[in-house]
Amino acid sequence: QAKSVGGNNQYFYNPALQAALEIRTELGRDLHSAISGHQLSLYYQAQVDNKRQVLGAEVLLRWQHPQRGLISPLLFIPLTEEKGVIIDIGHWVLESACMQLKAWEADPRFSALKIAVNVSARQFYQVDFVEQVICILRNTAVDPHKLKLELTESVVMDDIDGTIVKMHALRRYGVSFSLDDFGTGYSSLSYLTQLPVDQLKIDQSFVHNIGVKHSDAIIVQTIIGMADNLGMEVLAEGVETEAQRLFLEQHGCRHYQGFLFCRPAPIAELETLVIPAPAAHIII
Ligand code: C2E
Ligand code: MG
Ligand code: MG
Ligand code: MG
Repeated sequence: QAKSVGGNNQYFYNPALQAALEIRTELGRDLHSAISGHQLSLYYQAQVDNKRQVLGAEVLLRWQHPQRGLISPLLFIPLTEEKGVIIDIGHWVLESACMQLKAWEADPRFSALKIAVNVSARQFYQVDFVEQVICILRNTAVDPHKLKLELTESVVMDDIDGTIVKMHALRRYGVSFSLDDFGTGYSSLSYLTQLPVDQLKIDQSFVHNIGVKHSDAIIVQTIIGMADNLGMEVLAEGVETEAQRLFLEQHGCRHYQGFLFCRPAPIAELETLVIPAPAAHIII
């Protein structure tokens, strides 16, 4: 049997694999202290329009591990899903995002900004997810139109009928929806017409390949055209170069997110992008 797995007993003593497993075990063990020890924080990445005007931000989780430094959510979100703690973490992210929106409402420089929050499968499939979101919005007294929830295709496809019911309930309340990593899922296109989605986010892998792989450039154009025909907004994620941005603009995309504009950063840093600090010499 071992032969069909690796064909070589060395496989079982692979030091790199061993190390990866150890990290996983260690992170899994440390997750609870991450939550209780306030090691989780939120970064914000701007979403901009054609004129680089900041329209809002996506909130992204970070884990400041005492030994390992800043850990990517790609590494620890799956662990939080396995252990179920994503429910509490996800609730905290939503609550924090709404509290941020509330703080912004008092400041005319920031009062028009929206915040996009990633929602994991396990979080979304809680029976009372809709009630939880509405409760947070009520408690923080935030305008629901400023909150955007990001779902991936795979979350939606797991239970399309149940998903549509929940989406309609939240949209009636004013919340909008974005389909994250669009184009990477296995879904058929016909379901898209039934989904009450406000925005498609073109996955960054396609954006990355715009000038590299012709078929990916075609996919980008197709997604933009499709969103347009379905009356949805389209946002390109992972925009890193001006050439990519130009291609996207020329093909009708109007919303962008990526390192070309800014990296995810603590809230104070994002705020400096919204209103550039006045030049010192003007004050003198
Ligand atoms: P995502 O929602 O697709 O977020 C976009 C990811 O792309 C972020 O990675 C962001 O830092 C990165 N990114 C943005 N612009 C660029 C760019 O120009 N180039 C490149 N190479 N990357 C760029 P991050 O922050 O590591 O997050 C990874 C994923 O973790 C997110 O993908 C999302 O699926 C998940 N995640 C993050 N925060 C949360 C959260 O609060 N809840 C849940 N459920 N998932 C989260
Ligand atoms: Mg996202
Ligand atoms: Mg994405
Ligand atoms: Mg992603």
